Amino acid sequence: MRHFHFKDGQMQAENTSLQAIADDIGTPCYVYSAATFTRHYRVFADALDGMDSLIAYSVKANSNLAVLRVLAKLGCGADVVSGGELLRALAVGIPAQKIVFSGVGKTSDEMRAALEAGIYQFNVESLPELEALNELALDMGMVAPIAFRINPDIEAGGHEKISTGKAENKFGIDINVAPKAYAHAQNLSGIKIQGIDMHIGSQIDSLAPFKAALSKLVALVKTLRRDGHTIDTLDVGGGLGIPYRDDENAPPLPTLYGQMVKEMTKGLDVKLIFEPGRMIAGNAGVLLSKVLYVKTGSARNFLILDAAMNDLIRPALYGAHHDIEPVSQPPKNAPLQTYDIVGPVCETGDTFATGRQLATLKAGDLVAIHSAGAYGAVQASQYNTRPLVPEVLVDGERYALIRKRPSVEEILKTESIPDWV
Ligand SMILES: *Cc1c(COP(=O)(O)O)cnc(C)c1O
Repeated sequence: MRHFHFKDGQMQAENTSLQAIADDIGTPCYVYSAATFTRHYRVFADALDGMDSLIAYSVKANSNLAVLRVLAKLGCGADVVSGGELLRALAVGIPAQKIVFSGVGKTSDEMRAALEAGIYQFNVESLPELEALNELALDMGMVAPIAFRINPDIEAGGHEKISTGKAENKFGIDINVAPKAYAHAQNLSGIKIQGIDMHIGSQIDSLAPFKAALSKLVALVKTLRRDGHTIDTLDVGGGLGIPYRDDENAPPLPTLYGQMVKEMTKGLDVKLIFEPGRMIAGNAGVLLSKVLYVKTGSARNFLILDAAMNDLIRPALYGAHHDIEPVSQPPKNAPLQTYDIVGPVCETGDTFATGRQLATLKAGDLVAIHSAGAYGAVQASQYNTRPLVPEVLVDGERYALIRKRPSVEEILKTESIPDWV
């Protein structure tokens, strides 16, 4: 469910009018609902009831400090994939012992910062990374708690660019060589083996791939224990999909997902780590945008928005679908028009949707691009020297600007011309 609904014909985020936010902040801007983040977190936490578990929110889905603080206050942990994300998680007060560090290319500076902070677990993705971490830890007189990220060779994820658990992907350690990798890690005195990890993809819309991968990992836990290793944690990653359109076959509910994990890990006696990102953030935000022009061509009608691919790249990058809706509710029997909905950037790929049926819109009308809370603002850029899109957080009747729009002057100031040019 989305906390974006109509009141007196005007779309609101919780009890705040999107028109009022647009008038105040300007468009385009992201608008998030604090209540939705909270509800999604609680739904997920409830689904894990009775399990020894840590929810480590995948910070990369939406890493705004205010969003992270909302989740931190609920007791949420963090899955980070860079030193920058680690600093964000620590800055909002997420305890280091609730932070896991994933990613195939951790630098020594990043690993050092994580060791100094005392994070809960490094999810190690290769043997060279293990060696580097071991040396660093020995150097610092510390021991790094690790799990290997195992690649279970499972097809999953709604799109090839967000599928991560196949043998040909760059992620993790081949499941067939895992026992050897653990045996090697056992000999390194800067390393403490504590668990096992996977993350097979994103926007996964059925339980089957999770189940297939988890059953391989459960078997591996038993093998590793037989080999004499201590396996106390099982990190099952993130990847649970969300509905992007109203009429779509909904991905499995978190309760069913939780039940499945519970059944598959029954009696295993491990602490389970979950890394949901999209499931928490995706439907907690919209991208609010204004129609600049309606261009009537011979073949097509174009709605030209003031938002573009640099603000929300998912359609251009993955062909992703986002529902797009006028902020002013059209009358019931308003005639429909077919539009291609595009941004101003000089790329044909700067297209949010083609052939969408919407009530007739005119310049100045506002639209909400739904399901934009995850992998939206975090992937924004300043392409075409379009200032980084601002973010707004709503809580009931109040709202706050949580990332400001830089001025073009500020952008230009970050660059310099050498005197020899
Ligand atoms: C991106 C990512 C996640 C979150 O994926 P969602 O599909 O947003 O749930 C979790 N774990 C790792 C290692 C990731 O890279």
